[in-house]
Amino acid sequence: MRALLLVSLALTGCLATFPLDGEVYVDPRLSPRKQYLIQQAMDDWCKATSGRACPRIVPGRGPFEFVVETRSGHNAITRQRFRTVQIGIDLLTWPAGSQLAAVKHEIGHAYDLEHAPKGLMRGAEQGGPQMRKGVRTDCIDRRTLEAFNERHGAGPIQPECDEP
Ligand SMILES: [Zn+2]
Repeated sequence: MRALLLVSLALTGCLATFPLDGEVYVDPRLSPRKQYLIQQAMDDWCKATSGRACPRIVPGRGPFEFVVETRSGHNAITRQRFRTVQIGIDLLTWPAGSQLAAVKHEIGHAYDLEHAPKGLMRGAEQGGPQMRKGVRTDCIDRRTLEAFNERHGAGPIQPECDEP
């Protein structure tokens, strides 16, 4: 067990993340509505990071991508590997009002952010971002952006909300 733990710690920070610029692909099999949701989520991340996390969204498949997810048992899941990051999108059981929150949360994982007790990165074990109180479920909060800065270097941030 101890050896396994050390290996997993050693891997942290070595896995690929979504590019800050460059291309992120969107599986053309995703419905136009979901593709629109993804574009909107990426635009929000771009604004909140003051223009730093702004990859272009292109239709197709590639090393960094959003793909149709149908049989994984997950509604939205991010798979970070050494050279690729894939976000699987199904969202079938997610209420329409919190799907943007789900996509923005997964983009946080794609930028190497971990779960936090509060904010956009609130984990599934705490009900996920859709259980946030007093703020829009999809807003990119200050805490999340500070975690982004820790991972990608300090820079100006424009939080969409300040979550108490
Ligand atoms: Zn998560």
